[in-house]
Amino acid sequence: MANPFPTIVIGGGFGGMAAALRARALGQRVLLLERGDRLGGRGRGFELEGFRFDAGPTVVTAPHLFEELFELFGERLADHVELIPLERFYRFRFDDGSEFAYGGDVARTAAAIRAFAPGDEQGYRVLVDHCRRIFEVGYQELAHVPFHDPRVLLRHTPRLLELGAWRGVYGAVSRHLRDERLRRAFSTAPMLVGGHPFDTTSIYLLIHFLELKWGVWYPRGGVGALVQALTHLMRDHGVEIRRGATVRRIHRQRGDRVGAVELEGGEMIATQRVISNIDPMHLYQSLLPDTGILAGLRRRTLQHSMGLFLLYFGVDREYPGVDQHSILFGRDFRAPLDDIFHRRRIPDDFSLYLHRASAADPAMAPAGGESFYALVPAPNLAADIDWREEGKALEERVLDRLEATLLPGLRAHLKVRRAITPQFFADELLSHLGCGFSIAPRFHQSAWFRFHNRSPHARGLYLTGAGTHPGGGLPGVLNSAKVVESLLRGDAP
Ligand SMILES: Cc1cc2nc3c(=O)[nH]c(=O)nc-3n(C[C@H](O)[C@H](O)[C@H](O)COP(=O)(O)OP(=O)(O)OC[C@H]3O[C@@H](n4cnc5c(N)ncnc54)[C@H](O)[C@@H]3O)c2cc1C
Repeated sequence: MANPFPTIVIGGGFGGMAAALRARALGQRVLLLERGDRLGGRGRGFELEGFRFDAGPTVVTAPHLFEELFELFGERLADHVELIPLERFYRFRFDDGSEFAYGGDVARTAAAIRAFAPGDEQGYRVLVDHCRRIFEVGYQELAHVPFHDPRVLLRHTPRLLELGAWRGVYGAVSRHLRDERLRRAFSTAPMLVGGHPFDTTSIYLLIHFLELKWGVWYPRGGVGALVQALTHLMRDHGVEIRRGATVRRIHRQRGDRVGAVELEGGEMIATQRVISNIDPMHLYQSLLPDTGILAGLRRRTLQHSMGLFLLYFGVDREYPGVDQHSILFGRDFRAPLDDIFHRRRIPDDFSLYLHRASAADPAMAPAGGESFYALVPAPNLAADIDWREEGKALEERVLDRLEATLLPGLRAHLKVRRAITPQFFADELLSHLGCGFSIAPRFHQSAWFRFHNRSPHARGLYLTGAGTHPGGGLPGVLNSAKVVESLLRGDAP
C-alpha cells in the first residue's frame, strides 16, 4: 500500500527545495514547511523601493545542478530563467592600489597572471592541474554519494591524503604561486563556504575548477529568480508549500522512526519521512534533542563558520567601471581572519566583497541607479559583540571604505540601505550562533565527519543543506539533495 503520509521537508533553502523536488519525482507526496514568508533561505531575493537584491549567493557555478531539477519533470531551466555568463569572474583590489581580474578559461586566466605577476604563470598551470585532480575525486566521485558509512571514508581517505586535503587552501595555493597578492586572490573561495582560508580543507580548491569548467553565471532577475522558478516548478508538480510554518519538534514512534512534526502553535502533522534542511545544530539541539550523550559531546567540539555583516544599498547613479564581483583586500590578510575566527573581534583592517547586481542585469535597479551589497566576514555570536551598536559603526566604516575606493561620491547618492548582522541569521534563519554557513568546512568536519545525510538518531530522517555532506555553497547543497534522493531510493519505509 502506498505510504499515506507526506514526506515533510523542513526549510525552503536551496537544499530543501531541491530535495523536495527529488522526493516528488520519486512519486512521494511532499509537504515543504518554511518558517519565513518567502523561500530561498540564505538565497532569497527581496526588494527595497524598486531596488532588487540577492540576500546571499551571487556566484552561480555548476548550472547543470539546477537544470537537472527541471529535467526531473521533463522541463528546461532555460524556459524559466536566463542564466547570463560572466566574462570576468572576480576583480581583486589590493591595499597598494593594484588590481587583478580573471575569468574565462585556463588560458585567459594564465594570460591575466602573465600580465600581473609574470613569474607565476607556470605555477598557476600546475595549481589548476591540482584543482582538477581534487575536482575528480572530491566532486565527481564523492559530492553526490552518501558518506554515512565509515567504509566509504576508509576507501577514499588515501586518495584525499595524497591530494593534501588536510592542507589549508592558502597553504596549497602558496606551494604554486609566489606573488602574495595572487596567493590571497586564489585563497578566497573558502569565504564562500564560511571558512578561514588558512585552515579550510584544500578540497575546496575544486571551486576554482568548477568556475573554469562550467563558468560563472548570474540569473536575470537575480538568484531570487532561480528561487521563484523552483517555487513554480514545485507548485506545478504537486509539492505542497506552507510558509510561516516553524517546526519546533520532531516526534518519534516506537522503533525510533519519525512519527510526526510539531509546529509552533502546537499543530501536529503525521509523517514517516522528514528531510531537514535546517542548520543541523538547531535540528539536534531543538527539534530532536534526545540524541544521546556522545552525540551531544561531539557537537560541542565542532567548529563553526564565521558570521556575516551585510549591507544592501541602492544608489541613484551608475558605476559602470565596477565589476559584478569585487573583492577589496585590507592591508593584512591573515591577522584580520584570525581576529574573526580566533580572537573573536571585528577587525580594524577588514576585507570586503562587493556585489554589483546591476552589472549583468540593469533591471535589478531603477533606471539610472544601481543595486549593491557589501559583505564583511565577521565573528559569529560566540563573540561578545553588541551588534546593535557595533553594526551601526561597521555600516559607516563600510560606506567610508567604499566611497574612498570603488564607489566615489557614494553617500550623496544613497537611496536605500539595509544592514543585517549575525543576529539576523540566528533570529530569522535559526542558525546556531548566527553562523553564515553552518559548521566550518575543515578537513576533520568533512565527508564522514560532517553531519550525515541519513540521521543516525531517527529512522526516516534525512538531512540536506550546508551543514551536511558534501558542504556549503549552492553546488554543495544541491548535491546534498542528490545524496538524499539516492538514500530515499533505497530506503522506502
Ligand atoms: C551572504 C552569503 C553569500 C553567499 N554567496 C554564495 C555564492 O556566491 N555562491 C554559492 O554557491 N554559495 C554562496 N553562499 C552559500 C549558500 O548560499 C548556502 O550554502 C546555501 O544557500 C545554503 O542553503 P541550505 O540548503 O543550507 O539552506 P538555508 O539557506 O540555510 O535555508 C534553510 C531554511 O530553513 C528555514 N528554517 C530554519 N529553521 C526552521 C524551522 N524550525 N522550521 C521551518 N523552517 C526553518 C530557514 O528559514 C531557511 O529558509 C553564500 C551564503 C551567504 C550567507
